[in-house]
Amino acid sequence: MTDSDVVVVGGGPAGSACAAELSGVGHAVTLVDDGRRLGSWAGESLPPGAIDLITSVFGEDVLEGHRRAYGVRSAWGSSDLGSTDFMSTPLGDGLILDRARFDEQARAQARCRGASVIAGRVQSVEADGDSWTCTLHDGRRLRSAWLVDATGRSASVASRLGARRARADRLMAQVLTASDRGDAIAGTIIESVPEGWWYSTPLPDGRRVIALLTDTDLLSADADRSARWRSALEATVHLHSAAGEISSDVEPSLHRADTSVLHPMAGERWCAIGDAAAAWDPLSSQGVVSAVLVGARAGRAIPDPAALRGLESDVHLLVSEHAALQSHFYGLERRWPDEPFWHRRQI
Ligand SMILES: Cc1cc2nc3c(=O)[nH]c(=O)nc-3n(C[C@H](O)[C@H](O)[C@H](O)COP(=O)(O)OP(=O)(O)OC[C@H]3O[C@@H](n4cnc5c(N)ncnc54)[C@H](O)[C@@H]3O)c2cc1C
Repeated sequence: MTDSDVVVVGGGPAGSACAAELSGVGHAVTLVDDGRRLGSWAGESLPPGAIDLITSVFGEDVLEGHRRAYGVRSAWGSSDLGSTDFMSTPLGDGLILDRARFDEQARAQARCRGASVIAGRVQSVEADGDSWTCTLHDGRRLRSAWLVDATGRSASVASRLGARRARADRLMAQVLTASDRGDAIAGTIIESVPEGWWYSTPLPDGRRVIALLTDTDLLSADADRSARWRSALEATVHLHSAAGEISSDVEPSLHRADTSVLHPMAGERWCAIGDAAAAWDPLSSQGVVSAVLVGARAGRAIPDPAALRGLESDVHLLVSEHAALQSHFYGLERRWPDEPFWHRRQI
């Protein structure tokens, strides 16, 4: 049995930010991550303005080894390919993350500030008087006064404590990593289509992520899904030319991408942060920065219940702002008002 003040379950951006802040003010923290996400990244990028926030929490080193993003090209609202150049914003460049490296660097920061970082999967959680006991897959047990759920969209700890997720939509991403043609279309590209929208982002390792976002009920049945994904990619006007040869034996992986909120986000000596508390449609590119922001705030708020209530209401404000932005962007696409995906998103 290992004792700490706080056990943070999940070592993604939210969990590492929370563990780093808590350790920085002298709490004994154990950060536990199951390493399950290794190899299943979605090609996340940080929008302009995010870099300052990320470095204020994790320091400058966390930005090494990623790829600068100078803009985004999109065919949205019409088939013409427009471009948004980040040079024209005062907020600076964006960043395309090597997520495995970013998460490793963020956990290293938490370790540097004093957190104990361990590999393992939390399988059960029990309240035991004034403390929590987490049992890992291999039988190890962690006891703590506070518990933080940073397990991502599954919110697997909070859901065991009775919290429930409200979903605003059923968005799902079908993601495949391919070689990059490089010469054809550089940088990130977004293209809307009748059944949803595509994005493609070059990864720092030279490959490229290609993803179709559509609603769960609009996905083809399992057997045809991969073939349907390929023919839909071929039918895009611009995006198909970004990818190199896609081998016929690789299949796109499925990831939940809905906008959803946990109720409640905090309770007696526990709280949820990052995607576990509230997750966004990837169109916003706000997931990582919000996870770091909310994780770091929770690290400063624990163990003060009033400060955690303030954080919960701020997360609800973020959710409303996000919903307004999302309606704005989806409202710009008017070509397919009768297609179910777009019909559901018209105001
Ligand atoms: C298709 C897609 C595209 C996206 N694009 C972008 C983008 O361009 N920009 C952006 O900013 N965001 C993007 N996002 C969102 C971004 O990926 C998330 O918002 C971000 O990863 C949330 O961080 P987190 O720390 O809350 O959770 P996660 O990154 O999910 O981390 C949770 C961690 O907890 C671990 N874990 C889970 N359960 C347990 C357990 N029981 N025990 C131990 N460990 C556990 C997991 O393995 C994982 O390491 C995208 C998301 C999707 C689905």
